[in-house]
Amino acid sequence: MPDSLPPALIQALPDVPVLGQSLAGVSVLRLDRLGGAAPGNKAFKLRYILARAQAQGLRRVLSFGGAWSNHLHALAAVGAELGLETIGVVRGGETPTAMLDDAQGWGMQLLPVSREDYRRRHDVAYQRELAQMHGPCLVIPEGGASAEGVLGCREIAALPGVDDPRWRRVVVAVGTGTTLAGLAAGLSRVGEVVGVAAIRGGDDLAPRVREALAAIAAQAGVPWHIEHGFHCGGFARADAQLRAFIPAFEHATGVPLEPVYTGKLLLAIHAQLAAGHWSPGDEILAIHSGGLQGRRGYAWLDPWP
Ligand SMILES: *Cc1c(COP(=O)(O)O)cnc(C)c1O
Repeated sequence: MPDSLPPALIQALPDVPVLGQSLAGVSVLRLDRLGGAAPGNKAFKLRYILARAQAQGLRRVLSFGGAWSNHLHALAAVGAELGLETIGVVRGGETPTAMLDDAQGWGMQLLPVSREDYRRRHDVAYQRELAQMHGPCLVIPEGGASAEGVLGCREIAALPGVDDPRWRRVVVAVGTGTTLAGLAAGLSRVGEVVGVAAIRGGDDLAPRVREALAAIAAQAGVPWHIEHGFHCGGFARADAQLRAFIPAFEHATGVPLEPVYTGKLLLAIHAQLAAGHWSPGDEILAIHSGGLQGRRGYAWLDPWP
């Protein structure tokens, strides 16, 4: 991540209707353009954890993910940049993917495990076992969800133009809630932060965000809540509405999306405006958290731009 940002990192969407709805008051924070080989929010989530590995003199880090994990992809890329060895524990039964090929290309050692073993990824005893077998290494939780991850994401709020009172809403996709927690902790001048759940049945997401805030002894600087109506069938699923929305949005705005997180994010904003729940006069900042490398998993999308 460069310290100085190109001025176009916040991009206002053109006043062109997307499926009949103008998105004229919406701007996009293009984190997908930041971070080189690890664009989006994942480099922010990893920054302090990897700094700790280096401070502890550990040369190796291990983490967990599925075959299309943006987290493992970013860990491999940033780890290679920092000269760290990376090990990815991959949920088994999934064929090789373009994402794992990239990760391996950056030097990540892949460790496919059975679904039963993968279910133990949060289990401290299992983590210790892995660390003994493959260590000395630092074990990073799946998705980078950790207090250090929240601290890293808080820095998104400090990017120029983000904590600006002109934003009635700052809206972000939610997987683990780490990024939402970081934003809620770091923002104090915007109207509110809205998370869009990318998973079905995310009842534990709000408690997880509260825990994440407590873990860094922070309070939300602005109100926040999570919208649960836009998972489009569940994590990494895409229903007909999302499949129609993404190409229409991309065609109208020139901003690329992916179906797991950012497509659902912009669909939610579009739907809230179309339903009149949000006023078109309210300025909205949508956080584009990256993930475009994952487009390669979806045959119905044009190739990764
Ligand atoms: C991981 C990820 C998210 C979700 O971030 P959390 O901190 O887990 O909520 C959102 N967008 C993209 C593109 C991601 O890769």
